[in-house]
Amino acid sequence: MREREIWKNALSSLETRLSKAIVVTFFQETELTHLSDEGATVSCPNRLIADHLKSRHADLIGQTLASIIGARPKLSFEVKNALPNKPQELGPIFRARENDGLSSSYTFNNFIVGLSNQLAVSATKAVVGHPGGLHNPLFLYSGVGLGKTHLLHALGNALKEGDPSLSVLYCPAEKFTNELIQSIQDQRSASRFRKKYRSLDVLLVDDIQFIAGREATQEEFFNTFNELYISGKQIVLASDRNPGEIQKLEERLVSRFMGGLVADIQEPDLDLRLAILRQKTKEQGESMQEEVLLALAQQITGNIRQLEGALHQLLSFALSTPASSSDLLLQITKHLPQPKQFGPEEIVKAVCHHFSLNPDVLRSPSRTKETVLARQVAAYLLRNLGQTSLSKIGDLLGGRDHTTVLYGIEKIEKELTQNLLLRNRVEAAKVEILGKTF
Ligand code: ADP
Ligand code: MG
Repeated sequence: MREREIWKNALSSLETRLSKAIVVTFFQETELTHLSDEGATVSCPNRLIADHLKSRHADLIGQTLASIIGARPKLSFEVKNALPNKPQELGPIFRARENDGLSSSYTFNNFIVGLSNQLAVSATKAVVGHPGGLHNPLFLYSGVGLGKTHLLHALGNALKEGDPSLSVLYCPAEKFTNELIQSIQDQRSASRFRKKYRSLDVLLVDDIQFIAGREATQEEFFNTFNELYISGKQIVLASDRNPGEIQKLEERLVSRFMGGLVADIQEPDLDLRLAILRQKTKEQGESMQEEVLLALAQQITGNIRQLEGALHQLLSFALSTPASSSDLLLQITKHLPQPKQFGPEEIVKAVCHHFSLNPDVLRSPSRTKETVLARQVAAYLLRNLGQTSLSKIGDLLGGRDHTTVLYGIEKIEKELTQNLLLRNRVEAAKVEILGKTF
């Protein structure tokens, strides 16, 4: 059949223009059911796919068909076997209430406020008073283990406590993505998926950076976001970096995410670390000498999850052996990770050493091949090991702008998957940097 052959050709050509994954996901069950001078009809397995192809790929499909048949047909998309009167299958009578994903152990009560998280806490608490109000969306970001997930749950719990009828959902972005992929299988689950996310009063999405680079998820999330936002529903997002720095996140999402309030959480200072240790010890029903807690707080900087882990280690040691303060202090210095000794300067130094370059050359305008490579590796390591911001990296590398920096990092990321020699060089530089800390 003519249509079938043409569509087969079109799909293999689309595979080279889009990607195999996209074609498999969205075109797998499509057919060209009609083709004439007037137009072409593409039949799709469900409405979600029909809408997606129409909004995202219609132009490319038109071009592709034109390149095969010599004229560009007017496209229409239909849903295969759409039976509008098909009776709805009845679900179980007692369908379990959708789980809100909230964990009751994360509350505002057990979240200690300090200088580093004050902004994020007050923004989150403001949402409790006015969901869908001024801080919409609220975007929280920080490095790992600094309390974003805790705050999302605390907010959800507080909202439900204030008004149990609110429909609130806590959802890691990865779960959203997986559910979306499953929902594409058939029309009924697609509409269930949409209904679930679009009928919420409050949507809390954790680790939103996960959707970056995933086209279908970004598209669906954009639509979900808009629908909730327009109806005045509250959206809160958490990420490991600010929206502008999430690579491969569509521009329209970046601007939506920045449209409300963006608040970061910084690394905790000594006072906050100590206060957290006191509180966690109390929560465990234990006690611990103040000097021991202080030593622990001095030793473990940066990440609160690590701080908790170290405290648990210490508490169980103290429980298993009758230990004096000095025994415990010894444990801390002997067994717990030492604070990191390297900063951005050390990373730059190690890369220069490795590439036998003078740091001044690295910061100079020189564009010899080896210097450019060293600069890009430095940017990559500053980002990945040092979690340094793009603009700071630009400054450290002689005043380069953040797009150049980003380009360099992405280039190295790509090269590392293909170039063994480069991988060895980067690994060696890494060992040099990290090796200094042990
Ligand atoms: P993130 O989502 O930013 O990676 P989490 O919210 O998972 O971090 O926090 C890591 C751990 O540290 C959790 O057990 C959390 O309860 C705890 N934590 C973080 N910040 C605080 C805080 N300010 N007060 C009490 N516990 C905290
Ligand atoms: Mg988290």
